[in-house]
Amino acid sequence: MEARPENPQQLEAGRLAEAFRLFSQASADLAGAYTSLQEQVAGLTAELALANGRLKREIEEKAALNERLALLLDTLPAGVAVVGAGGRVEQANPAAAAILGTGIEGCDWAEFAAAGLAQTATPGEWEMPRLGGRRVCITDTRLASGGGRIVLIHDVTEAHRMKAQAARNERLAAMGEMAAGLAHQLRTPLAAALLYAGALENPRLPATERARCGSRVVERLQHLERLIRDMLTFARGEASGGESIPVSALLDEALQVCAPLAHRREVAFAVADESRGAAVSGNRKALSGALVNLMENALDACQAGGRVELAAGLADGVVCIRVRDNGRGMDTATRERLFEPFFTTRAEGTGLGLAIARGVARAHGGGIEAESAPGAGALFRLTLPVLRPADGRRRTGHLPALRFHGGSTTCLSY
Ligand code: ADP
Repeated sequence: MEARPENPQQLEAGRLAEAFRLFSQASADLAGAYTSLQEQVAGLTAELALANGRLKREIEEKAALNERLALLLDTLPAGVAVVGAGGRVEQANPAAAAILGTGIEGCDWAEFAAAGLAQTATPGEWEMPRLGGRRVCITDTRLASGGGRIVLIHDVTEAHRMKAQAARNERLAAMGEMAAGLAHQLRTPLAAALLYAGALENPRLPATERARCGSRVVERLQHLERLIRDMLTFARGEASGGESIPVSALLDEALQVCAPLAHRREVAFAVADESRGAAVSGNRKALSGALVNLMENALDACQAGGRVELAAGLADGVVCIRVRDNGRGMDTATRERLFEPFFTTRAEGTGLGLAIARGVARAHGGGIEAESAPGAGALFRLTLPVLRPADGRRRTGHLPALRFHGGSTTCLSY
């Protein structure tokens, strides 16, 4: 039987029902999505509130830190200046203004330093001639970001004065000790000179004997003269003159002075300069004299055919100049008394050479140490703070004039 077509009204009702069903479903979906959105919004709002709380806390903490830092900078006895990438002083705490002068903020730091700071013998310390010779210690640290830097300034005027006073007192105490020794030291050559001079009074003294006595008197008087000169050098003992001295120049000077003696004694010299252009600061004459003394002692300790090595190297901001010989060496008793004023084992020695050399090294912020054993030669280390950093140059070599028959000249590398 053939299906009866539905009438149009029935069809319309069916479509409406279907549309209504679809609408209900869409509404239900929308309601679900809305609820889920509401939940997400609630979650996000809670997260935001948390983040806001954290941020607020951080801001409060930063504000407290800022306050603490500002207070710290204001009350800090050390000066702090912030130098911008352009080289201008952007900020300076009250201590910096008190040390460097109130007009420091806004100044060009390099210009200020060039006009107002004079170098001293101590690396990192400067004198301010315009401000009554105040002495400051300046440390410069680059900021990782922005290209600026923080300059720390310490007023070390009083500390320096006290250090100088202590060094003077120490020298005076040593001088007191020396005075007793000096009387003895002066008496021996003086007595010998008097003895020979007395012999000269004898009219029957043969001419050759007269000449011999005359030269003995001169010898003893020369010894006295040397003793007095060394005493004066020891008594002065300061490192005046903040000259910048390349280490290589010090080595060259010492080699030049000692070359004739080495030649006479037929001792070979070797030099290994690895100071790579570094410089030290201080009194050139005093430092060169100290090094010459170490070299002369080394040459004196060697027999003909012996060897003296002079080397300079750098480590941790310190220049180390080494004088090594393969001479007679020394026993423990000698080693312990080496730096004592008037201690000498040489008939013509004054015993002041090493005392002066150590005094000079200490006045320059360094020192001298010795290593030795009988028959095993000696090694003296003169250390000084570096003024100018190394430039990577390396120099080894020897003086051609110091090649001797019998001795060998080697290039050393430490
Ligand atoms: P001087 O040279 O007038 O004796 P120094 O103070 O320079 O005075 O030296 C003191 C003593 O140290 C010397 O007399 C010597 O005995 C000893 N001495 C110094 N350097 C060396 C050396 N390289 N080898 C052996 N002995 C040394």
